[in-house]
Amino acid sequence: MEKRLKRIEEDALNEIESARTGEELEAVRIKYMGRKGLFTDLLKSMKDLPEKERPAIGAKANEIKGKLAGLIEAKLKSLGKKGSAQEASIDVTMPGVEITRLGHKHPITQVINRVNEIFIGLGFKVKEGPEIENEYYNFEALNIPLEHPSRDVFDTFYIQDDILLRSQTSTVQIRVMEKEKPPLQVISSGRVYRPDAVDASHSFMFHQVEGFMVDKNIKFSDLKGTLSLFARQMFGKDTKIRFRPHFFPFTEPSAEVDVSCIMCAGKGCRVCRYKGWLEILGAGMINPKVFEAVGYNPEKWTGYAFGMGIERIAMLKYGINDIRLFFENDLRFLRQF
Ligand SMILES: [Zn+2]
Repeated sequence: MEKRLKRIEEDALNEIESARTGEELEAVRIKYMGRKGLFTDLLKSMKDLPEKERPAIGAKANEIKGKLAGLIEAKLKSLGKKGSAQEASIDVTMPGVEITRLGHKHPITQVINRVNEIFIGLGFKVKEGPEIENEYYNFEALNIPLEHPSRDVFDTFYIQDDILLRSQTSTVQIRVMEKEKPPLQVISSGRVYRPDAVDASHSFMFHQVEGFMVDKNIKFSDLKGTLSLFARQMFGKDTKIRFRPHFFPFTEPSAEVDVSCIMCAGKGCRVCRYKGWLEILGAGMINPKVFEAVGYNPEKWTGYAFGMGIERIAMLKYGINDIRLFFENDLRFLRQF
């Protein structure tokens, strides 16, 4: 038994001596001192010894074990110092690691940026408004009467009696007109909220962009010209638009605006339900009552306003058939844009 102990000690000393790395040292430690190591084996086999001899051998084995552990630790420290010496000699002139996958903007952000770009080119300024609003800015100032169905709790998220999540970006019209005097050309986009059940074409949160212009002698033809140019820049130079009469409380007259189907160029397909046209926005001449609410003289000033859903534009532009894809953060979807 003593001979065996002596041989294990010599072998271990040699192996510690010749170890060159921390990993090699760790392997030595496990081989001798680990749970299934040679020392553990040896101590287990002590039960075969006469009882008298056991304490002496046990003490000797523990002494050697302690000595080896100390040696391993000392050697690890000296290897560590060499390691940091190596770090200091890193070649800083070596070429760096190439970044092969860069992130990019979300498709919704890309569409907002493109819309802004087009209107900035026409002299519009970009403004923002709060997402948490009160009833005055979301409804009253926009000539939406108390009995209007959109003011119902089923169509608007109320936080408190008078505080709500804005259900449209037209609120920004009022906030800007209150602070500034005409002439004004403003574009504003952001999130809006409506308690709709989520499906392929509805979400309780989506994005809108609102644009308006106020000056002397602004006519319906100015609105039509601006929107035609926008449609051609957004969807392609052959895109046509048409206006259908509609009603909105904050514009008079009002229209819904369609673009010729960008999938079939107006011939008729599944996307446009064989009509050749796609509805993209609502627009009209700003109602004189809205001007009165912000203290403008409706005899002096005229203007137009329009609003559209960003997701709708992005879905048409990229051929996406489910609005939920925008908000699920699935990288397989997002990497396509
Ligand atoms: Zn079509």
